[in-house]
Amino acid sequence: MKREGLLELNEAVQHPGKKLRFEIETELAREEDLDLIEPVRGTIEAVSTGNILLVKSRFATRIVTECARCGSPVESPLEFTMDDQFQVEGVPSAYSHDSFAYVVADEPEPLFEQNALIVDNYVRQGLIVNLPQQTLCSGSWDGPCQSEPLIAEEDDDPGHPAFKGLAALRAEETS
Ligand SMILES: [Zn+2]
Repeated sequence: MKREGLLELNEAVQHPGKKLRFEIETELAREEDLDLIEPVRGTIEAVSTGNILLVKSRFATRIVTECARCGSPVESPLEFTMDDQFQVEGVPSAYSHDSFAYVVADEPEPLFEQNALIVDNYVRQGLIVNLPQQTLCSGSWDGPCQSEPLIAEEDDDPGHPAFKGLAALRAEETS
């Protein structure tokens, strides 16, 4: 029986060396800090060594973030990969009829329910660590923001502070 939001990996956990591959699509529950325009789509692969369950995945979506300069919404593609290892305890049933191996998940936010991956929690964790640190609506610090032109405070020095810092750094390196 398929449980909602759970990806059953028990077959991999009980059969070390057996690789499972899944196509995933999830909208994620409504998030305060995440504004997804498209569902997160990708693949999850799982294989167990007997002691460790290796879970690798690759996802893509589109998100809206705020421009770091003017705060207007910026839509951008987001692709990320995840590569996690989860401890497995017990003897896989493939080795002994009356045994059973299980994933030991000690994350603050649970990622497993028995040997099933809680897909949304897992995907959310990957999304959050891979969010762009700084997006600009114009695509670079060179041009002005699309929504509001830069205020010309320093006409005699058009360089952005970030570039002045960079120039100072380069001067140090060459001296
Ligand atoms: Zn902007």
